[in-house]
Amino acid sequence: MIFTLPKLSYAFNALEPYIDAQTMEIHYTKHHQTYVNNLNKALETHPELEIIDLKSLLANLNSLPSDIQTAVKNNAGGHYNHSFFWDVMTEEKNTKPSEKLNAALISTFGSFEDFKSEFTKAAMGRFGSGWAWLILDEKQKLAVASTANQDCPISEEKTPLLALDVWEHAYYLKYQNRRNEYIENWWNVVNWDKVNSLFSEDIN
Ligand code: MN
Repeated sequence: MIFTLPKLSYAFNALEPYIDAQTMEIHYTKHHQTYVNNLNKALETHPELEIIDLKSLLANLNSLPSDIQTAVKNNAGGHYNHSFFWDVMTEEKNTKPSEKLNAALISTFGSFEDFKSEFTKAAMGRFGSGWAWLILDEKQKLAVASTANQDCPISEEKTPLLALDVWEHAYYLKYQNRRNEYIENWWNVVNWDKVNSLFSEDIN
């Protein structure tokens, strides 16, 4: 199985002014493409592996040959996390959490604002490179999490619902060291329709 860069559903400039076109283009065509290429390169060395899909690869890192575990963790993670990230952003204005998701956010975090501040804290508190997440944990409960590097919640049996890339490559051109401003602006492009549907798929 050869992995490929997924098609973006919006133009590089669609998320302006919150995420600038140049950052989007470099992030997608260079950074994301490199994870895809390096994932394929690592898997090429083990043609005997039967790869079903990206998710199963990430869920079963420990069963991979040890010489490619790290490369697959980093690059399958990089491929999955970025594909997911593009999908939870949109140029559509006015998407919002469904009633069901909003109720769950309130019951878990106290209020929508409390959820946002906990997520922001996770994104600000990630030292170095990584991601902030809204996930469903093993017990199907909402939680905020952060992962280092390209580590993916799927490898810890968690279901991602929302992700924010806090690697410097995601914001440096426009925001330089101002990660807080990037995070604050990013809320304007969250695709709540997508988050709602991921939440409904998993919670019945
Ligand atoms: Mn990135």
